[in-house]
Amino acid sequence: MIYLDNAASTWPKPSEVAEATKAAIVDFGANPGRGGHRLARKAEQTIAETRAKLARLFGVRDPDRFLFCFHTTHATNLAIQGILSTGDHVIISGWEHNAVARPVTWLAQARGVEVSVVEPPESGESGDWLAVIKAAVTNRTKLLITIHGSNVTGEVLPIVDIGHFARERGITYMVDAAQTAGLLPFQLDEWPVDLVAFPGHKGLYGPQGTGGLYVAAGVSLRPLLFGGTGSRSEEVEQPMDWPGGFESGTPNTPGIAGLGAGLDFVLNTGIDQIYQHEMELARLLWEGLKAQEGVRLATEEMPPLPLFSFNLVGLDGQEVAMILDQHYDIAVRAGYHCAALKHRSLGTEAGAIRVSPGYFNTSSEMDAFLRAIAEIRQYLL
Ligand code: PMP
Repeated sequence: MIYLDNAASTWPKPSEVAEATKAAIVDFGANPGRGGHRLARKAEQTIAETRAKLARLFGVRDPDRFLFCFHTTHATNLAIQGILSTGDHVIISGWEHNAVARPVTWLAQARGVEVSVVEPPESGESGDWLAVIKAAVTNRTKLLITIHGSNVTGEVLPIVDIGHFARERGITYMVDAAQTAGLLPFQLDEWPVDLVAFPGHKGLYGPQGTGGLYVAAGVSLRPLLFGGTGSRSEEVEQPMDWPGGFESGTPNTPGIAGLGAGLDFVLNTGIDQIYQHEMELARLLWEGLKAQEGVRLATEEMPPLPLFSFNLVGLDGQEVAMILDQHYDIAVRAGYHCAALKHRSLGTEAGAIRVSPGYFNTSSEMDAFLRAIAEIRQYLL
């Protein structure tokens, strides 16, 4: 299988990830934070180690700024539902994934939260974004949310500049880093960003069922889940201990152990090395597709992330993806990529085909993909 769907979940994972996940089940499948015995302590230590690795990767001194979640969507919901109340105003970018667009839409319908969706008409320079964001701010704007890197086009937003603006206005700023965590450098202790939602199963090479939310010191949240935390068990009120009060329920220790191994892989390989390799592969795909007739790339410029979308004129993207899978053993993702807003503004109303190489792909696989596309066009058109 030539796997070009790493933007959805990276695959394969380094073998250490599976080994660490298995060890957490076989060797110490106990409940962390809920018991003082040796196995519970070992599980607790594993979780603390993964938290410390997240802190290293994201440039944060205090590991407790990270809450473990089950995926990016859990993290975005924890932040959005934990901050917004009736009467608040939230601004989101028009590039958002449904992991952001849907919870804010639900809050608009169910709780009377006001939502503005902003996007510059033409270029995506810092000034253009700041202009549309400034124009949308009201005296009730509580939260601003932007994606860091688009999961449809690979374009990147100027989050530090946007964050400075949000800080000046006293607006909480959340970033969806689903496509950039593990690929671009972060210095969250230095950056004016309050919340960062990220997956463990994409660029951090961890197992599915993992993700997290970074919460800057001083940001106050309501928990999303209420229940057992292993602390103050004699009380029925939710303890607001940090981070435990926001991680109710038995954690995904096997997944978090695997995420720890994924983080070791990313930290030891180096994000620069991972980024460069994946960008080289993406460039081969971009140039190769550009040279073929009848290929319509979703953006004009090669994006700064190793993922992008395209269509083949006269062919249905879903059908092309199915042929790639069944006849060429190649995995891509066709459709809307859970990003209806972005496809609307791109004008790709019928969706598109997305390719996203990962660290374990090779240049000969890119050649095979390009040959497959040329053949499909030749036979079907
Ligand atoms: N945001 C973006 C930008 C994404 O690309 C994705 C995954 N496609 C998500 C959120 C949702 O991620 P998860 O499946 O980890 O909830």
